[in-house]
Amino acid sequence: MSPRALSLSIAFVLVLAAWNTPQPLTTSAPQADASSSAAPSAATIPAPSSAAYLAGLALLAPSPSSSAPIPLSPRAVDALNRSLRSAVSQVAYMPHRVVEDMFVLAAADGDAPLDDAAELTRKTLDALYSGPLRHKPEDATLVWICTKATFAKYLHMYAPDEPTSDIGVYFPDVHVIVVDTAKATGLSLSHEITHVLVRADMPLAPLWLEEGISSLFEAPRFDADGTIHGRAHFRLQTLRDALASPKTAPEVRLDTLFALATPESFREGGKEYLHYAESREAMRWLDSRHQLWAFYTKWRRDVLDDPSGAASFASVVGKSPSDATADWVAWLQSDEAKQ
Ligand SMILES: [Zn+2]
Repeated sequence: MSPRALSLSIAFVLVLAAWNTPQPLTTSAPQADASSSAAPSAATIPAPSSAAYLAGLALLAPSPSSSAPIPLSPRAVDALNRSLRSAVSQVAYMPHRVVEDMFVLAAADGDAPLDDAAELTRKTLDALYSGPLRHKPEDATLVWICTKATFAKYLHMYAPDEPTSDIGVYFPDVHVIVVDTAKATGLSLSHEITHVLVRADMPLAPLWLEEGISSLFEAPRFDADGTIHGRAHFRLQTLRDALASPKTAPEVRLDTLFALATPESFREGGKEYLHYAESREAMRWLDSRHQLWAFYTKWRRDVLDDPSGAASFASVVGKSPSDATADWVAWLQSDEAKQ
């Protein structure tokens, strides 16, 4: 994987497919108990009420209007418009959709589900900007919506050495996303879109937080109140397998996650897959307690004084990451976490 790209691998799709099929997991769940290897039920996580969601935000918001996106400065508007014109000019000759003047989605071939991708992008933006996010990007992002026939070609336009086992790649330096909708049925799109939004909203966020929130929306659920949540999928099983092994169980800790201060530590050899799972399931646990966005917005506000995020976490959760680990691990192994 290119060090300047953020990607999802094919393993995501294979195991997500397993979660979404009515057969038990086999190869990915050898050490989990029988109940945890079953596909998740059709039931969903009880939706946090609008009141609870807004109450979480209000923890940091002195007035309801303070959670609205901050308008871009005239300079930033000018930069965004120039960036948008540049992105559109690259795809003017092919089917494309502009979403909220931030994303230019282009169909790499005639089978690419352009309208579905535009709808998913729009819903993700609506949910996040009517909720926790306040800062919009100053650059438009070009999103290539590919199928199996075109993914490798478009991916290698930006990263000749990038493995085609990836299903979605975000190139932040050139503001480009390439997604393979054939493999990911479009779901990697929300992950990559969220990368762009979190980077704009909290530039000092460590990679583990960015990946945690982005991967939370790999399997998004949009509730009637306009909020977005993440459904259980293979990353939960990754942690259950890790917990079942004496060798890896000690690593499944919240304080370990909060110590991943650098991209290098997140990608540490052999553990990146575990770190993705820990970050996603930590975010999903917080969301299940209606504390995710209170934690996020507090950390965003205090990031200079609290670069690790541990103090913000403790303020919202009432326990340090170390002390909360037992509660988190108990949730990971609960039926509630499978929803
Ligand atoms: Zn990512």
